[in-house]
Amino acid sequence: MQDEKFKVKFGKSTAERPKVLLPLSYGSSSLALFDMVVSHLEEQCQNERAVQGYVLVVLHVGEDAARMERLRKKYSQVLEKLEAEFVTVDPAVFVRDLARVTVTEEYAVRRTENSESLDLQELLLQFESRSSRQDFWQQVVQEVALRSAVAHDCSVVIFGHSMSRLAEEILALTAKGRGAETAHRLTDGEIEYAGRRLHVIHPLRDVLASEIKEYVRLGGLQEMVATEESVKHKSAKNKTVNELVREYFETVESEYPEVISTVVKIGTKLDSPQGMAQQCILCQEAIYRDPKTWLEQMSESANKEVQSDVPLCYGCLMNLGVGGGAVWPVSRPSREEILAEYILEE
Ligand SMILES: [Zn+2]
Repeated sequence: MQDEKFKVKFGKSTAERPKVLLPLSYGSSSLALFDMVVSHLEEQCQNERAVQGYVLVVLHVGEDAARMERLRKKYSQVLEKLEAEFVTVDPAVFVRDLARVTVTEEYAVRRTENSESLDLQELLLQFESRSSRQDFWQQVVQEVALRSAVAHDCSVVIFGHSMSRLAEEILALTAKGRGAETAHRLTDGEIEYAGRRLHVIHPLRDVLASEIKEYVRLGGLQEMVATEESVKHKSAKNKTVNELVREYFETVESEYPEVISTVVKIGTKLDSPQGMAQQCILCQEAIYRDPKTWLEQMSESANKEVQSDVPLCYGCLMNLGVGGGAVWPVSRPSREEILAEYILEE
């Protein structure tokens, strides 16, 4: 975030200030990033003739609005001098345009109209495995964060991922059959969402999780950290792919931190695949190669003659399972729909 566009502004140039969205999960990393950004803005505001270089929008996707209030109270003295917005968005906004998507025994994908009205909790509970639920939940949070960026007119999104977390995501995405998403999800750069260009940055990409933990401890931020559901006692079978990979990196971090940086370095070198892509009906990610075509090479039950109605990526196909199905939102809202939805809310 050393870029010219974030620097302190003088005179009448406030109109050009970018709005920066910081999604806050209340994990150590995003709280540490929040603390750093607030200090950065405070520094910028020390000169009386200067105005802060960017406007901060802090976002939590969840139902815990009380925690946001506690955070604001903790920083109230500094925040008085700054321009910052705080938003808690109910992830239920994700639920729209539901349809039933099923995978036949022959690996063909069918879309049928849906008559059930399920809430977000019910949608997620359709998946038996914790890993699939977590995979879809991550998508919900990501989608709602990007929609909020559009709704609040932010041109920049900063994620609190540490180097350890990025390494976890790179291996987890690969294991979940979402390797093609690595480049646009984890590399810094521009993405397009609902017709809007968003500059995505991971400012903590060079910092290890253990270093963040220490920063949080020294800064007295522990009281704000949301405790994660404990999974230590569960058998490996019940763990999500992300949990398994995270545990692996936690064990190597103290002695072999270079393993983590190597994974991130290699992951960052990956580019999005070339060629025309279709869009997955469930996660809206690009599909460069229909998974059915190579599943046919591995399985006898896959039938080449039976065509799919709609495209489904490999990651989502595995989540649904062959012979399985689920009700899920099958489209993204347009920019106009996002804006209309947020105006209604406010
Ligand atoms: Zn998908």
